[in-house]
Amino acid sequence: MNTLGLIDIGANMTHPQLHNQIDKVVENMKDQNINKAIITSSNLKDTKTALDIINAYPEIFYTTVGFHPHNAKDFVHENINSIIEYSKNKKVLAIGECGLDYYRDYSTREEQLFCFEEQLKIAKSVGLPIFLHERKAHDDFATMLKKYIFEIERSVVHCFTGTKNELKVYLDMDCYIGITGWISDLNRGKHLHDLIKYIPEDRLMIETDAPYLTPKNIPFKNNGINEPSFLNYVAQSISECLSKDINYIKEITINNTKRFFSI
Ligand SMILES: [Zn+2]
Repeated sequence: MNTLGLIDIGANMTHPQLHNQIDKVVENMKDQNINKAIITSSNLKDTKTALDIINAYPEIFYTTVGFHPHNAKDFVHENINSIIEYSKNKKVLAIGECGLDYYRDYSTREEQLFCFEEQLKIAKSVGLPIFLHERKAHDDFATMLKKYIFEIERSVVHCFTGTKNELKVYLDMDCYIGITGWISDLNRGKHLHDLIKYIPEDRLMIETDAPYLTPKNIPFKNNGINEPSFLNYVAQSISECLSKDINYIKEITINNTKRFFSI
């Protein structure tokens, strides 16, 4: 059974809703046979907190290092060296999450583009994969990515919710695709039910993006806080969309994740 324990490629464990009850969250992961999770960093403070969590649970967690586009306004030149320093830690598996988010626009577009480009350069120089975030910014995002993508180890567009054409652009750049509980939402996730068929089996990874995006197919009442232990429900939605056995979906996504993050 353990061989099919999933790995959550994106969990915001430094968010107080999860961090404040970390022991319970880890216990729930064990109950549900979720083997590991990669803690998403959105800024350097997150990375520092993530490394504390990893110290307490070294068998379970890894992290990334980088600036989310929302935090691009805080990104200054000195941060480049800090990211490079953190990236030397064996528990830091990727640069990110980074990218562009024109849906919320919490940082100006100039700030986002600068911050994104600097992190692409870092990923290229340190030889780590990159963990990407794009929302309502596909054209600028793809244009920027194309400049660096073929010199970067590997890349994943996390929480993909875009169109078929956008998916094709990412797959043409050899990106992996991260699917969240968004797919289990019968309304806003509906378009993904068809699109997922176009993701090659060796490019699919799964994630919760906890504490956000609680899968809609969990068969019990939930307080609205998503956690890595719900990842099996994302796998279940995918298995239904693809008419494939859930254990098969688990197996391919685990293999892809291990290959992508070299774990
Ligand atoms: Zn994101």
